[in-house]
Amino acid sequence: MNDEQLQQLVEQISLEWFKRPFLHRAFFNRRLKTTGGRYHIKTHHIDVNKKVLDRFGIDELVGVIKHELCHYHLHLQHKGYRHQDKDFKVLLKQVGGSRYVKNVDDNVLFHVYQCTCCECLVFRKRKIEIKYYRCANCLSALVYVGRHKREDFA
Ligand SMILES: [Zn+2]
Ligand SMILES: [Zn+2]
Repeated sequence: MNDEQLQQLVEQISLEWFKRPFLHRAFFNRRLKTTGGRYHIKTHHIDVNKKVLDRFGIDELVGVIKHELCHYHLHLQHKGYRHQDKDFKVLLKQVGGSRYVKNVDDNVLFHVYQCTCCECLVFRKRKIEIKYYRCANCLSALVYVGRHKREDFA
């Protein structure tokens, strides 16, 4: 996906979910390190971390775009556009945007496994071959949950 396709996707999501046009620019920002996306209050542009698409796929990208569009539309309508504002929370829920923007920094992401029996979680920096591992508490098999921050389970 290139910037032009991203632009089209943002315009399309804006009309479909917010019933309002997106009249500014959206582009991939390759320098964003840890955040998934960003809305610029001064220019009204939206930039999105390319890693969101590469690592988490199109659904997560759409979730991030919806999140940034909530900031965008509320800000332009002079409503509460910040995370802690009620307007933001309500709109985000309505359109099904990502609640928090996933942290895409490799350093804080773990491969997470869960015991099929006692449901305890196992965090590993490197992917493990689950057929060779057992839960340390009850020796049951593990299943792979995905890549997450520890805080995601806090
Ligand atoms: Zn935000
Ligand atoms: Zn267990």
